[in-house]
Amino acid sequence: KFIALEGGEGTGKSTQARLLAAALEKNGIQCIVTREPGGTDGAEAIRSLLLSPPGSGWGAKAEALLFAAARSDHVEKLIRPNIERGAWVICDRYLDSSRAYQGGAGGIGDEAIIKLHAIGSDGMLPDLTLLIDVPADQIAARLQQRDGDVSDAIGGRGVEYHSAVAQTFKTIASAEANRFATINGAGTPEEVHHAILAVVQQNLGG
Ligand code: C5P
Repeated sequence: KFIALEGGEGTGKSTQARLLAAALEKNGIQCIVTREPGGTDGAEAIRSLLLSPPGSGWGAKAEALLFAAARSDHVEKLIRPNIERGAWVICDRYLDSSRAYQGGAGGIGDEAIIKLHAIGSDGMLPDLTLLIDVPADQIAARLQQRDGDVSDAIGGRGVEYHSAVAQTFKTIASAEANRFATINGAGTPEEVHHAILAVVQQNLGG
């Protein structure tokens, strides 16, 4: 099975990916936790290019192509082979991040992102995508605590960009409700974990 966790910065995706894998492993399911952009040597190299310091900024189109290229390597070398041998892959961000960031907030458009994904990764989709939803004011407080400021790792993208990201995630999740579950991410990590585990077990077993 293939599960993606989605949401903006500071929504707790990485923590939840780890907690979910640990719970499933306890039930005898072999899990691979991975992240996007990244997950393979090639895709991690692209990640470093993308997250280079503010000022070396990529144009929105180049950014979209780099994310699609990173995902292509990740799917081919790590995600698909592990699913084929029966492991569960839990991925911190996937296609819907590209649709929300580059497609929606970056202005590339949904159709172009989906086309790039069809070319790069044969349109491969997760069995279940969990959108972790946390109110904007709570996110700002969390990021302040974590990073000392509210700017993101790519840099130079302000509050307006990130609220467009959040809005696009919501639009996609409600339009494609059959493959999404929206999780209230406002509670403690344990509370959010229990909500996620319940949804995963209800949809995929485990
Ligand atoms: O999830 P994580 O915080 O590791 O992502 C690293 C950076 O990449 C973040 O700043 C995030 O905003 C950015 N990103 C992006 N577009 C994507 C995926 C991630 O701008 N499709």
